[in-house]
Amino acid sequence: MFTYRTVLDSFTPYQVDEQEWDIKLDANENCCNLPPLVRERLMNQFDYLAFQQYPDAGVRELRSLIADSLSLKAENVLIGNGSSDLLEKLCFVFGGEGRGIVIPAPSFSMYGIYATLTDSKPLIVRLNEDYSLEREKLLQAADDNQANLIIVCNPNNPTGTVVPFEDIEYIVKNAKCPVVIDEAYHEFYGEKSAVTLLNKYNNVIVAKTFSKAYSLASARVGYILAGEKIIDLLNRAIKPYNVNALSLLSAEVVYQMRHEFLPGISSIVSERKRLQTELEKFPDITVYPSAANFLLFKVSDAASLNKYLKEKRILIRDFSAAPGLEGCMRVTIGTPLENDAFLKVVQAFYEKG
Ligand code: PMP
Repeated sequence: MFTYRTVLDSFTPYQVDEQEWDIKLDANENCCNLPPLVRERLMNQFDYLAFQQYPDAGVRELRSLIADSLSLKAENVLIGNGSSDLLEKLCFVFGGEGRGIVIPAPSFSMYGIYATLTDSKPLIVRLNEDYSLEREKLLQAADDNQANLIIVCNPNNPTGTVVPFEDIEYIVKNAKCPVVIDEAYHEFYGEKSAVTLLNKYNNVIVAKTFSKAYSLASARVGYILAGEKIIDLLNRAIKPYNVNALSLLSAEVVYQMRHEFLPGISSIVSERKRLQTELEKFPDITVYPSAANFLLFKVSDAASLNKYLKEKRILIRDFSAAPGLEGCMRVTIGTPLENDAFLKVVQAFYEKG
């Protein structure tokens, strides 16, 4: 028999549905492909790509592009194979045996998995009933356990709730360890970003992704912004050429043309409002206010609704068995047509009784 790391048996792996669906609203992907102008520019640029060469190891082009736009230095930016790659590396760098990582819950389940995989101790801080985060409770948990890292998702996945900027600053200011603010969905929120704290505090780390607002989930590109010391530490843990040249080129073009995504982002935000209003009309449904590209809602029988949606070839995410999310389901905001189709099936579900 093989012997292997026993920690691998200690958690349920991230679940991904591999089936084909007519409407797929389970993974918080952008409902729209790249805007046509961006796509055209990208396809042209591929003509000039040196396919035979490894990508630029320093990823200078993309790092400078991002840094310049935020008045930071390229040394403050690190590009990863999706922000997941970097979140895992953060747990590796700051965690390890005997070290604790504070994670609010419910939140993005991979934080706990990365903490566990890096032999760190996940220190779970439960959100309030309305899924708001108590900053003192979070800091207390960090202090009590001499935590080495705190991760806060803002807006939070899967609840869609936000931590006000002053609370984010308070946490960063008072924490005795690095604090990661995962802003994977921040473009759909639009309020002040934790990026503005980078020049003030050396323990703040902001994680961003091209996978959501920028329609580039296929390419797997994310990045973190932090002080030079933290970036240098992470760089040591990262493989050379960790992001492929096709993805880097895609991200460069997308970042250069990021204004092209603004209409799409606003239309997702207005569809989110519409979907919330429509779902609230069903007496059985409670919708949680969301600042992301998805809505969390609670129903009395999530399993039956989920089964019915699947029969109609619509996939959303059933969280009803997860701690703190009893009865809850998460639907990604789709195109107006997809949202209409989803609402129609929900209506039919309640009508059939
Ligand atoms: N953070 C959060 C909160 C997420 O929901 C996700 C993806 N679902 C990620 C990070 C990872 O994004 P990616 O690896 O595609 O950049």
